[in-house]
Amino acid sequence: MTNRAKRIIVAAVLIVSLIVALRLWVRSPVDERSDLRMVMGTFARVIAVADNSKTAENCIEAAFSQLITVDNLMSTYKQDSELSRVNSGAFPDPVKVSATTFEVLQKSVEFSRLTDGAFDVTIGPLVQLWRSAGDADSVPSDEQLAQARDKVGYDKLVLDANDLSVRFTVEGMRLDLGGIAKGWAIDRAIETMQEKGAVGGMIDVGGDIRCFGMPPRGKKHWLIGLQDPEEATDALTVGRPLLVLRLTDAAVATSGGYRRFALIEGEKYSHIIDHKTGTSAQSLSSVSIIADTALDADALATAVSVMGPEKGFALIEALPQTEAVLISPPPKYELTKTIGANKYMR
Ligand code: AMP
Ligand code: MG
Repeated sequence: MTNRAKRIIVAAVLIVSLIVALRLWVRSPVDERSDLRMVMGTFARVIAVADNSKTAENCIEAAFSQLITVDNLMSTYKQDSELSRVNSGAFPDPVKVSATTFEVLQKSVEFSRLTDGAFDVTIGPLVQLWRSAGDADSVPSDEQLAQARDKVGYDKLVLDANDLSVRFTVEGMRLDLGGIAKGWAIDRAIETMQEKGAVGGMIDVGGDIRCFGMPPRGKKHWLIGLQDPEEATDALTVGRPLLVLRLTDAAVATSGGYRRFALIEGEKYSHIIDHKTGTSAQSLSSVSIIADTALDADALATAVSVMGPEKGFALIEALPQTEAVLISPPPKYELTKTIGANKYMR
């Protein structure tokens, strides 16, 4: 072999070794940790990818603790939450709240304006009425519906940014952040994980999901299965996914009456309420929204469930970086999606 040939072989071996070393350096050392716990009245899965297991574990703890903090502020199921304090005290005088709760309320009103009131955090009196109807197994009367509807409307809510206070202009108003708080909490928990050193992660709180950075080892993207409403008939039955999304630094939230509903007089009533009729939204069985943040995805999924396929589709098509996968009610279960949604599918 000539000297020239030897030099070429040595150079080739060096280049190949360099590429292998670089790939190993880029991919590792990474460690993944994952945990599933009950938070915000549902199952929450947190996955953290970090350069060592200790960091990954710390990120998971910090994420869960962030989710719990938001729940303690914004749950209507907790009598001592900040939101419960507002609900019992914001009429006729205002109640001061934390900057966090105030910001979520401001965002909520922005979504109400954007969706012509389809998303409305003052929906509380109707939510309560339907919850009691479920317990009593008796559909509310027209009079009860009319009374509750009089207490609903984001235009009846006064938010004062000067002293971070909240006031109801009608007695008996009730705020309900069930359609947006999970999204907000996920975004804050993702930020916390990033601050604590995670290079990748995913948080799934009851089907509202956001992921960022490096996916688990061996994967190019975060793979997120969307449930098939025909298979997932209640909160515990999951069934096989309808489709799998490939996400990178994005969020997806799914709203649907197929998992959470009240069974009243043998009929299923979705937990999402149409402010215009006062009864449950029924024109879609499942709405998944892909967006940059979990907050946007969460609020828009609830809103589109109320708006229905035509108006909902038009809204999502008009919003940048936002896509929708809609499934019509049974028995058809027809799937429609925005054109941009295709890029997330396998
Ligand atoms: P999601 O599962 O995110 O669609 O949220 C559903 C929850 O949002 C319900 O359980 C209620 O707490 C609340 N909610 C119901 N109807 C509405 C509505 N029209 N606007 C805002 N929140 C709603
Ligand atoms: Mg929602």
